[in-house]
Amino acid sequence: MASIRYADFHRRSLEDRDGFWREQAALIDWHQPFSQVCDYANPPFARWFVGGQTNLCHNAVDRHLADRPDQNALIWVSTEVDKETVYTYRQLHAEVQRMAASLLALGVRKGDRVLVYMPMIPEAAFAMLACARIGAIHSVVFGGFASVSLASRIDDAEPTVVVSADAGSRGGKVVPYKPLLDEAIRLARHKPSNVLMVDRGLSAYDRVEGRDADYAALREQYLDAVVPCTWVDATHPSYTLYTSGTTGKPKGVQRDTGGYAVALAASMKLIYDGRPGETYFSTSDIGWVVGHSYIIYGPLLAGMATIMYEGLPVRPDAGIWWKLVEQYKVTVMFSAPTAVRVLKKQDPAYLSKYDLSSLRALFLAGEPLDEPTAKWIAESLGKPIIDNYWQTETGWPILTICNGVEKAPSKFGSPGKAVYGYDVKLLDEQTGEELKGPNQKGVVAIEGPLPPGCMQTVWRDDKRFVNTYWSSIPSKLVYSTFDWGIRDEDGYFFILGRTDDVINVAGHRLGTREIEESIASHPNVAEVAVVGVADQLKGQVAMAFAVLKDPSKVTTPEATLKLEGEIMKVVDEQLGAVARPARVRFVNLLPKTRSGKLLRRAIQAVCEGRDPGDLTTIEDPSALQTIKELVAAPR
Ligand code: AMP
Repeated sequence: MASIRYADFHRRSLEDRDGFWREQAALIDWHQPFSQVCDYANPPFARWFVGGQTNLCHNAVDRHLADRPDQNALIWVSTEVDKETVYTYRQLHAEVQRMAASLLALGVRKGDRVLVYMPMIPEAAFAMLACARIGAIHSVVFGGFASVSLASRIDDAEPTVVVSADAGSRGGKVVPYKPLLDEAIRLARHKPSNVLMVDRGLSAYDRVEGRDADYAALREQYLDAVVPCTWVDATHPSYTLYTSGTTGKPKGVQRDTGGYAVALAASMKLIYDGRPGETYFSTSDIGWVVGHSYIIYGPLLAGMATIMYEGLPVRPDAGIWWKLVEQYKVTVMFSAPTAVRVLKKQDPAYLSKYDLSSLRALFLAGEPLDEPTAKWIAESLGKPIIDNYWQTETGWPILTICNGVEKAPSKFGSPGKAVYGYDVKLLDEQTGEELKGPNQKGVVAIEGPLPPGCMQTVWRDDKRFVNTYWSSIPSKLVYSTFDWGIRDEDGYFFILGRTDDVINVAGHRLGTREIEESIASHPNVAEVAVVGVADQLKGQVAMAFAVLKDPSKVTTPEATLKLEGEIMKVVDEQLGAVARPARVRFVNLLPKTRSGKLLRRAIQAVCEGRDPGDLTTIEDPSALQTIKELVAAPR
């Protein structure tokens, strides 16, 4: 493999698409072989491995029972509750069947949705794999989201069952989940028939008679359960995962089964270079796409052990991750730049305290990797640091350095080159024309068909899939990532930020509209604008500027601070603390164009101390001036 030049490898993946992916498809087991590699007769809807039947859980768990039954599969470490549990493939297989039997007992059938709202505990992994096993479609909602976010997802996914837990824990503090879930179900139009509760004994909760089932009791009944894998079509949806966009309503990214399994298995070999029997450690959360692809499915498909970590990177001290690398001989690690920036503020001695000789590379993704952070971690670890650029929609990297194909140098500030299978283009936003020359700024776009593993559609909304992703570039049916980028003369891309109203706070993707809608629900808020502002630690933070219905409420600094706190609490309760703006400032007027369009980019520029650019269309320049003065003034 090492003798292949990456450029040739990439070219072949596009020019001999079917041949290329047929080879990769051999990395997984098929119950029934596929008759067609890719059906793209109805663009932009791509159907991969048509006619084939397989099962994600079989490939992630059962097929390893022959070769590695007693090898570690899932290593759960919680520094929150001070527990460590290791499941071998044999034990994981048993646990997944117990969970699958419990879901079946609650009436879950193939194609039904199961919403998973859980902290980072093994049962969350069992639930995801159990759904895959029986052909149910899981929809994991990040545990940091609160009742309104959760309710909108319940209404869209219409789950038969919700799997949840009494509580999570963060920094040693118990975070109850059940009251938020109860409130979400109360708010939602759709009512799930059952809630399957994992009781960790962290937080007492009210049981809803006839609806809430106790997992410990059900598990006991199904200790010896044998639940065979349900073979599903390659195109059968494996899961939906909600993500933010320009509108307030989150989109359910729908993923298939066969294409996803093949794409992940191939990426484990060609991108991550993770080998069977080794240990993979991704520090993400199962509520995000990285958690789906690289805590659960990817490592298990590859026959690796995967670490699921509940806790902070700095507790009990900033050496905890490296201690785990030493203890479990981690070879591949995956994290986010924000986490590295957090560690950078700690004593560097923690990085040399443990034996990290097993580690081959650290992959970082989710947000731009700035040069000082990349340099610091590269020098401190003495290991390759590999940036990955991708999205919830794609499920696996679009841009990176594919070390499993050809060891290539990386460039600071660049996630690398277009990954095999992706026909990445830079397009002019206005004309749709391709920008072929080096260092031209354009929208990062992908020519269809999207490779295997990428989203099939928006859950129950094909129209939205087409209108959102494939219609933003004039006169072209091409997938937009909604990111600006440039490509240098060597084919390395540089990502320059979003073209839409999505912001990225500590690697968490948030829609500014969702936050605006939540703030606007406060009775004293008439109008609000939320923008993402550059932040040293988190990459970006949300800043809100609100016009009040009754400004007489904020005539003193104390009253202003009180109202700001009240509004933040509204966001915490509705969306979750992840979406809480760093500041809420009060203004008399928001900067708008004469036609009434909010000038978010101008607000953002002013907040970042940049020139707001062309303001000829602004209705009242004093609105922007007020914001400028507010952000310049000391707190
Ligand atoms: P998510 O869907 O939460 O993974 O967020 C995807 C978005 O995060 C992308 O569209 C980019 O704006 C940003 N992003 C992800 N990875 C990177 C990266 N390596 N470099 C720069 N931006 C990134």
